[in-house]
Amino acid sequence: MTALKGGLVVGRFAPSPTGAMHLGNARTALLAWLHSRAQGGRHLLRFEDLDTGRVRAWAYDVTRADLAWLGLDWDEEIIQSRRLDLYRAAAAHLDTYPCTCTRREVQAAIQASAGAPHGAEPVYPGTCRAGSLHPERPAALRWRVPDEVVCARDEWRGETLCQHLPAEVGDLVLRRNDGVFAYHLAVVVDDAASGVTDVLRGEDLWTATPRQVALQRALGLPTPRYWHAPLMLDFRGERLAKRGGAPPVQALREAGDTPGRVLSELARSLGWSVPDEVSAADLLPLWRTEIGRAELGA
Ligand code: GLU
Repeated sequence: MTALKGGLVVGRFAPSPTGAMHLGNARTALLAWLHSRAQGGRHLLRFEDLDTGRVRAWAYDVTRADLAWLGLDWDEEIIQSRRLDLYRAAAAHLDTYPCTCTRREVQAAIQASAGAPHGAEPVYPGTCRAGSLHPERPAALRWRVPDEVVCARDEWRGETLCQHLPAEVGDLVLRRNDGVFAYHLAVVVDDAASGVTDVLRGEDLWTATPRQVALQRALGLPTPRYWHAPLMLDFRGERLAKRGGAPPVQALREAGDTPGRVLSELARSLGWSVPDEVSAADLLPLWRTEIGRAELGA
């Protein structure tokens, strides 16, 4: 892994503008901001809006307003849908092939192949590797993943996750058959283009990290340090994001709640003991302690 220690830290918060920001997203936004600012770094806001069918036009401004209300500023804003040429150029560097299989056909091929899916994720069995079966259909673009074990490291938990991509993930779709570039490609291209040194994001993306590291290597890009934040759970232990009931930050804002109280609730959900009202800047020393602990492997 490329060493990035020393030098200016560059971090980012990368929301998908597909809906309102709820408390769970706000906690990730807070941690990403703390991580950049606690190290005197630059902080970016990147809207991941490539899946245009899911994007809500109002979500950009609401997200900006929510972040500003919480006191989480940023130095630069990046909008993925305006950077398609970059993703196209990156995809052209990779060993790819067109794939016209439907989801159902892929499922059928998985069932028919001797190995049932390993783990939770269905592994694409390479049906189109030898050529597209239906040239008349619009084609997705798949990346022939390297036949090697790729490892990623999480700095916060001090964990390493290794995956043999062909067996555990399969050839990745880089561009869907409707022309939408895949998240994994865009994230890797953008982090490198912006000089991101530290990625702090939700734990749900941890198992996707090795494939992103593999893409970085194939494209000759550096690997940032990764910090995966636990997802916020409700009192039932369910992920907030999965339930309709997670309060949007906008609703709290409009109901007259204070950013200080919301930040305090977010900090307490991380086990930090803080007063009832805090500012984002008040939390910087707590995050510095967390970084120090992670570096010591404690
Ligand atoms: N856009 C992704 C999300 O909202 C985050 C991607 C990332 O941080 O790498 O879950």
